[in-house]
Amino acid sequence: MNRYDVIIIGSGLGSLLCGYILSKEGFSVCILEKHSVPGGCLQSFRRGENSFDTGIHYIGSMLPGQTLHSYWKYFGLSQSLELEQMNKDCFDLISLDGSEFKLAQGFDHFTETLAGQFPASREFLGQYVSALKETVSAFPLYNFQLTDKHTKTAWMGTINSAWRLSHGSTQITDHLIEYISAAGGRVVTGREVKKISSLKNKFQVETAGHEMFVAGRIIAGIHPRSAIGILEPSLLKRSFQSRILSMENTVSSFGLYLGLKPGSFPYLDYNLYYHATRDAWAGQECKTEQWPGMYFMYTPSGSRHGEFTSALCILSTMCFEEVKRWEGTSTGKRGPDYKKFKSGYAEKLLKLVERKFPEIRSSINDMEISTPLTWRDYTGTPEGSMYGIRKESGNYIKTMILPHTKIPGFYFTGQNLNMHGAPGVTIGAIMTCDEILGLEYLFNKIRDAE
Ligand SMILES: Cc1cc2nc3c(=O)[nH]c(=O)nc-3n(C[C@H](O)[C@H](O)[C@H](O)COP(=O)(O)OP(=O)(O)OC[C@H]3O[C@@H](n4cnc5c(N)ncnc54)[C@H](O)[C@@H]3O)c2cc1C
Repeated sequence: MNRYDVIIIGSGLGSLLCGYILSKEGFSVCILEKHSVPGGCLQSFRRGENSFDTGIHYIGSMLPGQTLHSYWKYFGLSQSLELEQMNKDCFDLISLDGSEFKLAQGFDHFTETLAGQFPASREFLGQYVSALKETVSAFPLYNFQLTDKHTKTAWMGTINSAWRLSHGSTQITDHLIEYISAAGGRVVTGREVKKISSLKNKFQVETAGHEMFVAGRIIAGIHPRSAIGILEPSLLKRSFQSRILSMENTVSSFGLYLGLKPGSFPYLDYNLYYHATRDAWAGQECKTEQWPGMYFMYTPSGSRHGEFTSALCILSTMCFEEVKRWEGTSTGKRGPDYKKFKSGYAEKLLKLVERKFPEIRSSINDMEISTPLTWRDYTGTPEGSMYGIRKESGNYIKTMILPHTKIPGFYFTGQNLNMHGAPGVTIGAIMTCDEILGLEYLFNKIRDAE
């Protein structure tokens, strides 16, 4: 009963896109997800009338002809997603120590808007945009070019055009699962994969409930560190294992999900990146005493009521060490000290928010709080890391994860492979399926998609 051509572990964006491609190509596919809700960072959750996205809350390059639109047309996403274009004059507002800078959509508009604030730097801004375009053109997969090089990556294209997903990112999950199921594939939730072992040229997969699955190929859409933890040791080379274990992860986050009183807070058709100092990178590494050094704020698109919002999401970066003492606990059973920690840090974050929005506290109806442990437990990412393995731009090879491994038939996909985010993970899924179907064949299908 549980025999498939391909078993995919985890149901994040990368896994679902691989499931879509392979089901479309006639492979029997089964996706095993440990959580009761599929989607990983695509999950949304409801509190009262409000729905909050957890990970993906805005995407870029979704105008016809732009890169993500061209890729997602193949998946039927460009045609079916309900999107809301963000403010064309300012999709990201960057606040540095009280000074504000607007990032506008479209390369020319982006340059002109910033040149308005920095007239002496107009020429430099032009050079910056040219350098961005040159960099993008150097990545073959971004431009649908065949390549056998592994230095393939993608670039976040929000300067091209920036969009919110109306009604949240679960739209993506629902669409992809509907297709996979209609094509005969399965997406099974509540099945944590605990062990992968070899079985006569195939793989045997065992879940936490001792259910057995067999497949000729495995795609791990989970963090490589989690994957090596469930692979039978005899399948693993020690050098590969120690390389993966030595890789650092990106920082985690601490979040406030606020339900607001009617008519009390404006709907923002842009994101706000607020930095306490002029150093935009300082906030990331902030430890206890200085925390929080920054926050990111957005109003979910479904929360709009005329000019106002009924919901607000505020995220700050947070290192896992802050919650390490509770790492052995599970959701809802972390004890009173943890509750005190959460409310104390929520206070600190609200204090920073008050600098720009002095009335914020009187607007709050209810508040949900997430910490790095929430992330770890809901997405299965070690240390609750937001974007997985930290890539080193100066030494890309050092942190590069390839889609194929030394284990024949065992592949990786997801944000650790290539880059995080919608375009990075999409191109990662193409890289993974390239190993099975071939890139030229796949590109022809993607180009032909209506
Ligand atoms: C706070 C935050 C904000 C973000 N904002 C944006 C944004 O605005 N735009 C954007 O493009 N990107 C954004 N990103 C990045 C984006 O969400 C991710 O890069 C992407 O969704 C990751 O997809 P993935 O395929 O790697 O899988 P993940 O989303 O990491 O999912 C992995 C899945 O595997 C499951 N799993 C783990 N272990 C097992 C196991 N043993 N057995 C079975 N299942 C298992 C997990 O439960 C999870 O469902 C954001 C990320 C974060 C954290």
